[in-house]
Amino acid sequence: MQKRIVVYRPLPEDLLAELKRDFHVEDFGHLDDLDDPAFRAALSEAHGLLGAGQKITAEILDAAPQLETISSVSVGVDAYPVEELTRRDIQLCHTPDVLTETTADTGFLLIMATARRAMELADLIRRGDWQASIGEAHYGSDVHGKTLGMVGMGRIGAAIARRGALGFGMRILYSNASPKPALEEELGARRRELDELLAEADFVCVTVPLSAETERLIGQRELGLMRDSAILINIARGKVVDETALIEALNAGRIRAAGLDVFEREPLPADSPLSHMANVVALPHIGSATHETRHAMARRAVDNLRLALSGERPISPFNDPARLPA
Ligand code: NAP
Repeated sequence: MQKRIVVYRPLPEDLLAELKRDFHVEDFGHLDDLDDPAFRAALSEAHGLLGAGQKITAEILDAAPQLETISSVSVGVDAYPVEELTRRDIQLCHTPDVLTETTADTGFLLIMATARRAMELADLIRRGDWQASIGEAHYGSDVHGKTLGMVGMGRIGAAIARRGALGFGMRILYSNASPKPALEEELGARRRELDELLAEADFVCVTVPLSAETERLIGQRELGLMRDSAILINIARGKVVDETALIEALNAGRIRAAGLDVFEREPLPADSPLSHMANVVALPHIGSATHETRHAMARRAVDNLRLALSGERPISPFNDPARLPA
């Protein structure tokens, strides 16, 4: 009997065709509503689920009694009830590594764009308002030689820090659950308590995963510790930063600017102040959104799913259910 897979995020044609050779696939393309009756019906017989972005709850798992594996097309797994999946012996897979460099590029894009006020000044031209040479009121700040404070020094954090240290001669500070001696050696990075890092850094760049521990890690108090010339970059998840406190700090000039790829609510509501503040560069969650990287992520998700459903060890398992081969 062919195993049944439900796909709820668009997959490249070649990978979808590949999956269909070995499995019975029900493809929902881009599904916004996981209460969709056809999706629920498919779920009731599914052995594998492939998608990303949508919150998967215990109630959804109850509707999928045969489910063996969820393959997420993302590295972040905050949308999944990980302990519940493990308890139910369901394998969760994700896509680390293949998106690290592209997401780090996006992080650095935000560092450059906020520091040099690129969007705001490009808008001058778009509006036909460039009438004289740019003066002090429109100057930005240097990036090279400044202090980059990484909140989180995992794969993406290290890749951003590497760009900063090796490409821009930046001094690297980091706060992270565990020390990273190899990166200290390679980049001259120094570990700090979060409060110390916030007080010292010119750029504070958030790359920790969203969890109960990191939700609102950067709130009013933490923003208050930052220099008034400092810039906050969030390339991780919106909820790691208290957005209301961030808007207040930006409006009051307690920090200079913010570069954001992620938001508490996505898509960012059009009436959010963040969508039109001059000192904010807001991107629509495009960290990994290049042709090459999105295909590589989909490739990894498909490979993970095929391996797990065939009883083999996937390339990138996230949890460790009992039946996983060693
Ligand atoms: P990773 O390699 O697991 O790195 C996460 C780092 O955060 C690890 O070094 C970890 O410490 C540290 N950490 C975890 N919890 C912490 C805590 N409570 N306090 C301090 N440090 C903590 O993950 P990654 O591949 O770099 O990805 C990071 C996150 O980026 C993902 O979870 C995802 O949410 C986000 N992301 C966003 C985009 C986008 O499109 N904007 C794209 C990809 C990923 P240890 O090393 O000690 O475990």
